[in-house]
Amino acid sequence: MTLQTKYLLELSDILALRVECTYCKATVSLSMDRDIEVKKLRCCPNCSHPWTTHPQGPTIEVGVEELIRALKKMIPYTNNQAAFPIECSLTLEIKADALTGED
Ligand SMILES: [Zn+2]
Repeated sequence: MTLQTKYLLELSDILALRVECTYCKATVSLSMDRDIEVKKLRCCPNCSHPWTTHPQGPTIEVGVEELIRALKKMIPYTNNQAAFPIECSLTLEIKADALTGED
């Protein structure tokens, strides 16, 4: 017999988008129930290291905006605040070591 432990994250448990600078370790936590200006995340407010937009052009800015928009759209469906109930539960399965911050 094999036992497995699954770690599930309900979308309604997501409180904020957290960004950590890989260079200086500064963090910014942006509440999901407020407007989030993704353009302000182009570089670290502490050391100015590029965050969402690389100086040579590549950017994840649109992807971050889409992620935030999708989460904000779906969270009401998972905590019974939507206009109509859904007949399933939506959760994200996460790695156990994600809970401890280990890789
Ligand atoms: Zn930084």
